[in-house]
Amino acid sequence: MADDHAENYVKVCEVGPRDGLQMAPSIMPTPAKIAWLKKILEAGVPEIEAGSFVPPRLVPQMADTGDVIRAMSLCSDHGICALVPNLKGAQLAYDAGAHAVIVPVSVSEKHSLSNTRKGTFEQVAEVQSIVQWVRAQPRAMRVDVGCATAFGCSMEGVIALDRVVAVASALARAGADQVVLADTVGYGNPAQIRAVVRAVRAEIGPVLGRLHLHDTMGLGLANVLAGLDAGIREFDSSMGGLGGCPFAPGASGNIVTEDLVFMLESMGLRTGIDLGALMQARVLLQQGLPGEPLRGNIALAGIPRTYRERAA
Ligand code: ZN
Repeated sequence: MADDHAENYVKVCEVGPRDGLQMAPSIMPTPAKIAWLKKILEAGVPEIEAGSFVPPRLVPQMADTGDVIRAMSLCSDHGICALVPNLKGAQLAYDAGAHAVIVPVSVSEKHSLSNTRKGTFEQVAEVQSIVQWVRAQPRAMRVDVGCATAFGCSMEGVIALDRVVAVASALARAGADQVVLADTVGYGNPAQIRAVVRAVRAEIGPVLGRLHLHDTMGLGLANVLAGLDAGIREFDSSMGGLGGCPFAPGASGNIVTEDLVFMLESMGLRTGIDLGALMQARVLLQQGLPGEPLRGNIALAGIPRTYRERAA
């Protein structure tokens, strides 16, 4: 495992089991999902967003999240995370043994109403009640918040920088352990990523720890570089580039985990992830979702010889 305190360490969080599978037209059977996630852990991925506690009638792909989190938290004592829209979800995640939850708070009022049926600041208040409840429990659980549509919204268009800063500051005051800025629909560009990260960090410092980027416009990895440049050392990504948001029209896949790991490791940064083992996990993903198109350049080209020689 890579030293996660080292200066060149970059943490990669696999969100495919949540962001990816929620968009898949077919439902991956629970045993296949668990086998896939175990393989991801074995490859050295330090954090997995393993599912979401949302109503199964809205997102049937996530109906087995409790079982998946329970199985996975027996395999690892850290890094198993669930998305929860509200306090009830956080309680279910806690009971299932999750090590962390991520609560979506959309910066766009319209997307917030469509995603959680609450306005942005109503949802900030929900975060506060989740934090208070979690802190009163005997076991620790991290409470992260994903600021959706922080770089633009398909429903509302441009999101003002002041608004992103105000929402992030309110979340830091509400006690969130980490604020994640999410480019939910993938409209962000590198200059914007740099500017927004710097502005938010100027207000809340390292509480802004992570970026969640989509590759809608093909700028995903360029946006990662901009994030690195602005001091971010944690990124969400999705195996096979699966992903999107059922409540944000126009959102397409996340940045591809395999390609992200290739880029970071090739640059001399350390993820602790074995790319070859990660490619084996991708086989399990494809077997669990036959017919689902997966993206990724490493999968097309193979791991180049120069990469293997560098690692040897
Ligand atoms: Zn996403």
